Amino acid sequence: MEERAHNEIVLEGVAASSGIALGRVFLHIQSDVSIPSYHVDAPMRQAEVARLEQSLLTTRQQIQKIQSEVERNLGADEARIFDAHLLVLEDQALIGETIREMESSGLNIEACFHKISQRYIKAFDEIDDEYLRERAGDIRDVAQRLLQNLLGQAVLNLSKLADKRIVVGNDISPSDAAGIDRSNALGVVTDSGSKTSHAVIVARSMRIPSVVGLRDLTKRVQNGDWVLVDGYEGKVIIHPSESTLFVYGKLRKEKEGQQQRLIDASKQPCVTLDGVKVTLRANIEKSDEIGLVKECAGDGVGLFRTEFLYLSVTHLPDEEEQFDTYRAVAEGFDGSQVIIRPLALGGDKPLLGHADLFPQESNPFLGYRAIRFCLENRDLFKQQLRAILRASAFGPVSLMYPMISGCEELARANEILEECRVELRKKRIAFNENMPIGTMIEIPSAATIADLLARDSDFFSIGTNDLIQYMLAIDRVNDRIAHLYEPTHPAIIRTLRHIIDAAHKEGIKVSVCGEMAGDPIYVPLLLGLGVDELSMSPPLIPAAKYLVRALNYADAKAMAEKALTMESPKAIYAMFETFCRKRLDVAKIPLVD
Ligand code: PEP
Ligand code: MG
Repeated sequence: MEERAHNEIVLEGVAASSGIALGRVFLHIQSDVSIPSYHVDAPMRQAEVARLEQSLLTTRQQIQKIQSEVERNLGADEARIFDAHLLVLEDQALIGETIREMESSGLNIEACFHKISQRYIKAFDEIDDEYLRERAGDIRDVAQRLLQNLLGQAVLNLSKLADKRIVVGNDISPSDAAGIDRSNALGVVTDSGSKTSHAVIVARSMRIPSVVGLRDLTKRVQNGDWVLVDGYEGKVIIHPSESTLFVYGKLRKEKEGQQQRLIDASKQPCVTLDGVKVTLRANIEKSDEIGLVKECAGDGVGLFRTEFLYLSVTHLPDEEEQFDTYRAVAEGFDGSQVIIRPLALGGDKPLLGHADLFPQESNPFLGYRAIRFCLENRDLFKQQLRAILRASAFGPVSLMYPMISGCEELARANEILEECRVELRKKRIAFNENMPIGTMIEIPSAATIADLLARDSDFFSIGTNDLIQYMLAIDRVNDRIAHLYEPTHPAIIRTLRHIIDAAHKEGIKVSVCGEMAGDPIYVPLLLGLGVDELSMSPPLIPAAKYLVRALNYADAKAMAEKALTMESPKAIYAMFETFCRKRLDVAKIPLVD
């Protein structure tokens, strides 16, 4: 490790997925990276134009290569989208304006190209014509690739890392996260993001460490630098020293032993000391996680985020493709429940490359998300609903709608579902006529009218990631305000109680499937409030199960009642932290892993 001559630099962020990883950096910079801007003397400007021309050529070759790969794998139709990309490279207006901008401003070519391409993207984005608006997406993609080539950065492709690497990004979009090369990524580290960002959710499902909110890490490292990721304490150590490596080597062994003890314990029944059975299910994004869920002893799937089937591919999966996936999951759990959620696109999970379906928005978390998108795209929604219904003939499948805000929306979704049932009956295609239909409670309005929604739902699943975001007005992916994202805020606890009571009055069960469910500190709080099931990232199940088996349900209830009378989120948090620590320390299991 030749870099040991460097001084070690320790950076602190937010611990998002546990584990320790040592490896070389693979730098992944998104398009909104700050582009260097500096003055170029007049005699040097010809060389800047030559750099631009060379990058245009390289970019063209790269796109042509991708195009022929796509054509081979997916067909000519899918490959045609790259024709539009190639046309951008020939756009004389864009290139000419970039050169004129350099002549007038005297700035380097990257800065000028960035400025002009942004102007084009904005102009196309604002045009009231779908075809022309799509051009904005094409220019955005091509501009990013060209800028990477100009800056000499490896062009980013997280799905094919050449060797084992720590993926370091300023931000990692859900589509990039979904496609991460699972055999070669050792860790995921980002400048921005929070514990609920999707890169983190993917890292957890891969059981690799992740640290987020590191602010300027991408400016401090280069491709190939050695870094150590401490996903327990939320640290990233650049150029780790011999002594640091020694300490972490010992720690890694210790942690692996703990994890194994937890996995062993998780094979035991999930029952509290006073005999209350608790159901712990898994959140998954792909059907290849079935093995992991079983290894972690998850009781089926509490949330299948199906949007990842759409985000990681260049084409939209059709009904048959989806049916195959849902059927595999339905059959994969030997009779345990599998809850499938239709497309929850939007917010931090936009559908890129489909400008016709998904416009850019200035306020995406309050925009065209989840059920709103489904109801507007009936054909796409129906394809998915039919695939889910058909899978219900092969195992205990349930369906739950994301982002329901009111009764009418729920009724419209159910009407469309009924249309699908009629179509399948007509064609004599088998499905479960009694497939349970649940509602996700993740918008404050839905929480307030939980009593009304409960009448038309077979179960509730509370999406605390969004519910907390909307109730406390805290953007769930903004690291600057992550400290204000407090699940123990009295408003949240009271709202949870209100939802649970409303559900139980109607005789339906309540699950929590947001990240809160997988943090041991909140497990006794949620159980004590009356939650029936918890669903979490598979690797978090063993610790949650260990805790369930080490607590009295009556104590959890008493503490939840007490929490409902308290006013300080921090005091409530501290009360549950002490409770959990006591129970986990006996087995030397760390609380925050
Ligand atoms: C949630 O909001 O808590 C949830 C589970 O949905 P997602 O994280 O996919 O938005
Ligand atoms: Mg949500």
